[in-house]
Amino acid sequence: MAATFPLGRPAGIRVGAHWSVLPILALLAGFLARSPLPEAVPGRSPVVYWATGATGSVVLLASLLVHELGHALAARDRGHVVDGITLWLLGGRTEPDGGPPTPRSAIAVAIAGPVASLAAGAGFLGAGLLSSGLVAPTLTWLGWTNLALASFTLLPGAPLDGGRVLQAVVWKVTGDRRRAQAVAAHSGTVLGVVLASTGLLWLLWSGGFAGLGLVGLGWFLALYARAELAAGADGSGAPRS
Ligand SMILES: [Zn+2]
Repeated sequence: MAATFPLGRPAGIRVGAHWSVLPILALLAGFLARSPLPEAVPGRSPVVYWATGATGSVVLLASLLVHELGHALAARDRGHVVDGITLWLLGGRTEPDGGPPTPRSAIAVAIAGPVASLAAGAGFLGAGLLSSGLVAPTLTWLGWTNLALASFTLLPGAPLDGGRVLQAVVWKVTGDRRRAQAVAAHSGTVLGVVLASTGLLWLLWSGGFAGLGLVGLGWFLALYARAELAAGADGSGAPRS
């Protein structure tokens, strides 16, 4: 993925971010500053809400990195060379060499990201309960967002992590790696269409921003799943949410 800027080398793994994260960070900062923060703690100046919102969105980016490091460290534990992590519009992308050698190791690598997000989400919610002022609603939002991220990425369609688990299970049952890739990619296409249609109904029904987001998410998911199907990619080096 081109046009990335470097963010360092945690645990020796090169991390960069694609330019597409910048508008998402700005949107999230604006969302936090306009709605949940003033509702939870009224009476502060807009500058304080925006500064807290910006900090919250940067911490969210860091927690996406935690998710990706989960995948990367699990892959490295199993002897893969992990070239790097790129954070982008839809989260992250971990780039290990080749595919996992067995269904069991494919499941371990796929599941490590959502597990890291679940742990981060629980940690943020716990810290939110112990905090006060604007820090408390920011941490609570980070907690629920990480739990939502973990749940979303576990949906059973490639290129999502749940799709990689499905792929590994079909691979294990049939012994046919290519067929497993096709099943996971088909499932990702159906999932994308279902999400986009749900988002469209939501948008028509209530006109909400969330409906539009769901349409975009479903559209991208279906697009990537179709591309994976067309390429016959093995999934391991393909985008991973
Ligand atoms: Zn993931």
